[in-house]
Order: sequence, then C-alpha cells, then structure tokens
Amino acid sequence: MSTVRHNWTKEEILEIYNKPFMDLLYEAASVHRLHHDPNTVQVSTLLSIKTGGCPEDCGYCPQAARYHTDIEGNDLMSVQQVKAQALRAKSSGSSRVCMGAAWRNVKDGPEFDQVLEMVRTINKLDMEVCCTLGMVTENQAQRLAEAGLYAYNHNLDSSEEYYKEVISTRGFKDRLETIDNVRKTNVTVCSGGIIGMGEKTEDRAGMLVALSTLDPQPESTPINALVAVDGTPLEDQQPVSIWDMVRMVATTRIVLPETQVRLSAGRTQMSREGQAMCFFAGANSIFSGDKLLTTPNPDVNEDMEMFKLLGLNPQKPFTKKVQPQTVEASDSQFEALGEKPKWSRPEHKIERNEEAKQKAKALK
Ligand code: SF4
Repeated sequence: MSTVRHNWTKEEILEIYNKPFMDLLYEAASVHRLHHDPNTVQVSTLLSIKTGGCPEDCGYCPQAARYHTDIEGNDLMSVQQVKAQALRAKSSGSSRVCMGAAWRNVKDGPEFDQVLEMVRTINKLDMEVCCTLGMVTENQAQRLAEAGLYAYNHNLDSSEEYYKEVISTRGFKDRLETIDNVRKTNVTVCSGGIIGMGEKTEDRAGMLVALSTLDPQPESTPINALVAVDGTPLEDQQPVSIWDMVRMVATTRIVLPETQVRLSAGRTQMSREGQAMCFFAGANSIFSGDKLLTTPNPDVNEDMEMFKLLGLNPQKPFTKKVQPQTVEASDSQFEALGEKPKWSRPEHKIERNEEAKQKAKALK
C-alpha cells in the first residue's frame, strides 16, 4: 500500500522542518531508504535552448528582458546543436537532458515544432528528456508526450502567498493549470521551487503543501538555492545557509517520499560535506555541467570525484518509469490547434521588480 499522503497541512510540515536537526536527518534518511537506493543519484544536464529576452518579471531571473544583467541572449538552438550537447552529456554520465526556453508559454508554430524534433532526437539517444518551456495547453502537452517527452518541468517557485512578491506577470493558478494539463498525458511532472528569495519558513512549508497535495505528487522536485544575480530584483539576497538547504531537502523527502528530489541551483555555494548531508537527507539528483541555464554550476569532473568519494552511482535512464515511444511528426495524432489561452496577468506592483526595471532603463 502506498504511504504517500496528500493531506499534509502547513502546521505539520513546519513541525517537521523545525525538528532538532539530527532527528530530522534521521527521519528523512529512513524515508529515503524505504523508497530509493540511497547510493544512487541521477545526473541530469540542463540545456538553455533559448536564452534571455523573456517577457516575464520573475524577480530571481537574469533572463527577464526588463532587467539589466550580463546574460547573452540566444535564439532557439538547432536540433543538431542540441543533439551534439546531449551526446556530450551522455558520455559524461548524464541520463537526463532538461531543455529550457525563456518563454512565457508555448506557442504553436515552427519553433515549437523544432522543440518537438529535439525531444524525438534525444529520446532516440535513450536519454530521459525533460522540457521547461513555460505554460502549456493540454494539446501542446499531448504533442510533447507523443514526441517522447519523459518529464515536463514547471516550478511553483514558492508558496502561493510569496509567489505574489516575486512575480507579477502570471498567476500561481496558471502554474497549477499547466501541471494539470501535463497530468492528462503520460509525461511525468517535475515541479519544485527556490529558497533564499526572502521568504519565511512558512512559505517554504506552504510550497510543500501545494506540491504534496497534488495527486499524484510530482515525480520530480527540484530544490534550488537562489543564486543572486546582479541586476535582478533579488540581487542583494544573502546566500542560503547549508542548514536551511538540508532542512528543506529533508522535509521535502518526508512529505514527497517517492519523488526524485533534485539538488539544483546553488551547488557552487555548497561544500562537498554540505552536499553529502543533502544526499543523506534524501536528495537523489544533481545537475551537471558548468552552467545551470545561466548561473554557475560545479564542473562535471568535480562531481564525478565527489561521487567516487561518497560511493555514489549515477542512476541509469528510465529506472523509475519505462521509456516513452516516439511518434514521428508525420504520424502524429494531434494537430496544432493554434490556441490562445487566457493565461492571467495579475500585473500587481512589486516594488523591487519596479526598481530593477527602472535601473535597467537608466542603463540603456
Ligand atoms: S524564470 Fe522563466 S519565465 Fe521567469 S523570467 Fe526567467 S525565463 Fe522567463
């Protein structure tokens, strides 16, 4: 019988998060061992297939066009470029490629068709393919599924309450709707968030309530530590302490027992000892490669040395779920509908986002 609970309350999650550190670690490690091999960690590669120029105002993101950052924008990569990068990732031990495009939402047309071709190409390399492309309709999710997509990433970022302090150009409910659209297909859901954006512990627990009460729970949950980038509204945030990171990973592991918990952005700020504590507390995936979309990440060789030191083995692809079949574009059951869904635009004012925008304007 499944031990997964979908009725966690914020109070219960806070109680777990605030336990004495050793008790929390012991409980999380015990849950982890019941559901996963504690010595296996998935290595994934994150590829920015279209960088910068994003119309959204996410306060943590250097890719938002309205802020002035050092990011070099790029148009959509070609299928061949993506294939070359995926092969490189595979040869250095990655079993999963996650492709990110700085879009508000997917639009039917040649660019989306190109992404579908990338999905087909990587699935045929026998690697798990994940995409993070913004909001998607059910039809678009079906087309991705048909191409052989293994996972779709759409982070909740924070609690519903704190989300409003970080992003004003789209609503929390739209995030849930996209996750719901993905759930209507056989694509798995990857959804998590970021800590260190100035949120309270209650918001961290609130985000975990939102994730754990999804039924089914996400198969994958990235926990990111904010990497504060100059020019973004959150540029002055202090780095997250390792103790907070371990507490967040451990609590996530307890409330999402079967989920693959991903240690994502912010690993360059963590020592090996810190990362080892995260693995013990239930993290079982890392992103490899010297860049995580646009922010720094440890070098692949450093990670492999760490795996050797800790006796960790990279997870093989399709360990958790069978490989999806790829349907060629010519045999597709789903036509592009050219829908224009009414995703919300709350557009409430977030002071620090406005200030960063004004600062960027003055610099242009
Ligand atoms: S996080 Fe994604 S949606 Fe938000 S600004 Fe960055 S690229 Fe755009």
